[in-house]
Amino acid sequence: MSQVEAPTKAAPAKAPTPRRAIESGVPDNTQFLHPLMLKNYGKWKYHDRPRPGVLHHVAQSGDELWTVKAGTQRQMDVWTIRKLCDIIDKFGEGQVRFTIRSNVEIGVSKWEKVEPLVKALESAGFPVGGTGNSVSMIAHTQGWLHCDIPGTDASGAVKALMDDLIHEFKREEMPNRVHLSTSCCEINCGGQADIAIIVQHTKPPKINHDLVANVCERPAVVARCPVAAIRPALVNGKPSLEVDEKKCICCGACYPPCPPMQINDPEHSKLAIWVGGKNSNARGKPTFMKMVASGLPNNPPRWPEVSEVVTRILRVYKEDARSWERLADWIERIGWPRFFEKTGLTFTKHLIDDWRGSRANLNASAHIRF
Ligand code: SF4
Ligand code: SF4
Repeated sequence: MSQVEAPTKAAPAKAPTPRRAIESGVPDNTQFLHPLMLKNYGKWKYHDRPRPGVLHHVAQSGDELWTVKAGTQRQMDVWTIRKLCDIIDKFGEGQVRFTIRSNVEIGVSKWEKVEPLVKALESAGFPVGGTGNSVSMIAHTQGWLHCDIPGTDASGAVKALMDDLIHEFKREEMPNRVHLSTSCCEINCGGQADIAIIVQHTKPPKINHDLVANVCERPAVVARCPVAAIRPALVNGKPSLEVDEKKCICCGACYPPCPPMQINDPEHSKLAIWVGGKNSNARGKPTFMKMVASGLPNNPPRWPEVSEVVTRILRVYKEDARSWERLADWIERIGWPRFFEKTGLTFTKHLIDDWRGSRANLNASAHIRF
């Protein structure tokens, strides 16, 4: 007789526990806000700027908050961070937050605390400014400190340029605010800015065939190329890669996954200046930058050629733009031909976006169209 097991009662199914999202993006910003900012979030009556570098917020509740904005080096050693924190503890109220352009914003609840805080910051080498219609601190990339593909030292170019522009950071004399950015390769960080300084490779990568087979995943490198210029090849009996130099647009995208495809070059990696980018929707739609100067030498430690072009554009913009015109609005009003006339920059064939695949952006460069 076969034994039939009595059916066991199934345990009630547990409600599945939702897996917590792994958040590796931007942290919750509320933890960095001054308590008064948090208390009155979204309930402000008005705000103004009693002096460059200081914001004053008045809440509907009657609370007032002053925020002192100062520039930092972005890449700071521990000693400098401690010095900054000591100032914040002594003259501020123990609260600080970093902005996207590496400025610090320190909130205080009393106007009497503002001037001593400004003095302490300035005397320690942190210039106060960057508010309103100023030239804000340059949003710059990590460069050699953290990244493995830079063609130049981004923070060095930023330091040299901001030394020339420090008075424009501390005053609010521009027609509108001016955002600058730098990128030490052609493909990654940086971002849209009123004026951007971007590495520009001018020669295809040189391939070290002895290393490719040991270091590179060839399919990954082939897939990286935006113009399909890379092919697998056998060189001296070893698996390697070859580049169709007629197709190559010298973007440098193959170098990060395959360092033996060396594209950084002391002579042929140059710097280009782009203008007219904007992320915000304020007064006009966001805009893309366009290249207006190319082939500037990558000339450390002070990059004088880059500083000369950037300060020249800023000088003409300051004199010629109407109040509240961003750089892109000003160029839109006067037109690209007048932009080149007024700034004295030379329009060359290198400024024309002639990549065959980009039908959609052929009309996006600064060239004159008929
Ligand atoms: S811009 Fe390019 S090279 Fe510079 S830090 Fe970013 S990814 Fe690296
Ligand atoms: S530099 Fe850019 S276009 Fe040239 S081979 Fe490398 S990925 Fe392709």
